[in-house]
Amino acid sequence: MNSACTFMGCESGHSEAGTVLFGAPFDSTSSYRAGSRFACGVMRSASYALETYSPYQDRDLGDIAVFDAGDLELSPGNAKKALDAIHRFTGKVLYDGKVPCMIGGEHLVTLGAVRAAAERFPGLAVLHFDAHADLRDDYLGERLSHATVMRRVWELVGDGRLHQFGVRSGCREELRWGEGHIETHRYGFSGLEATVERLSGTPVYLTVDLDVLDPSVFPGTGTPEPGGVSFAELLDAVLATVGLDVVGFDLCELSPPYDPGGNSAVTACKVLRELLLLHG
Ligand code: MN
Ligand code: MN
Repeated sequence: MNSACTFMGCESGHSEAGTVLFGAPFDSTSSYRAGSRFACGVMRSASYALETYSPYQDRDLGDIAVFDAGDLELSPGNAKKALDAIHRFTGKVLYDGKVPCMIGGEHLVTLGAVRAAAERFPGLAVLHFDAHADLRDDYLGERLSHATVMRRVWELVGDGRLHQFGVRSGCREELRWGEGHIETHRYGFSGLEATVERLSGTPVYLTVDLDVLDPSVFPGTGTPEPGGVSFAELLDAVLATVGLDVVGFDLCELSPPYDPGGNSAVTACKVLRELLLLHG
């Protein structure tokens, strides 16, 4: 583990913390342009641009106890090893009765955390916000990729347990395949409230691929996809998950090099603040 500073307001010690925040700085399977490995460190320093208090929720990060464990040391170029390390670490956090909050990295890192959550919580459902379906069986022959991550997640949780929102990109085959196995809501968040209601009492892992945002508000990402949601729409969707039993969550695909102005990093931090206050 290593880290220069903690995410704002996450200075609790490990034993008293209910939530463990950690970074998974891995981006070796990024299909278009890499760089998301830099997100964890950049987000920690960018977070100090924001207040720890959320006017949306009337809650402050000072009201909850989050331990920032720093970043996992993941071997670049070896997805299997990186996923094993994430799986092991997330499993430990869950075993300690705490909520894991992971900062990517590319979206493949979610698979390691979901492996641990699915072991710990049988019947786990996954709620997934993303521009991309990520449902390919392989990407250029590679089964472990950020373009296949949700197909691998489906293999763990089974039919009807993966719920996607905001999807506006994928190949014909993966989108057709998805129709028979998962619940995909295209382009935005319509239907989210009903899904949240249906998932009441079910353990849920929540994964937010930040490229669900429109590139005009979030240019700092590896595979930008025009036609996305606004920040306000994503915020509303995040806040709509309030009733869920979220056992773990992550935020992926911020790639700081593609937004030198740094607004994307601050945007990611604001989404994370709200998620921590809701589910941390
Ligand atoms: Mn994704
Ligand atoms: Mn995506």
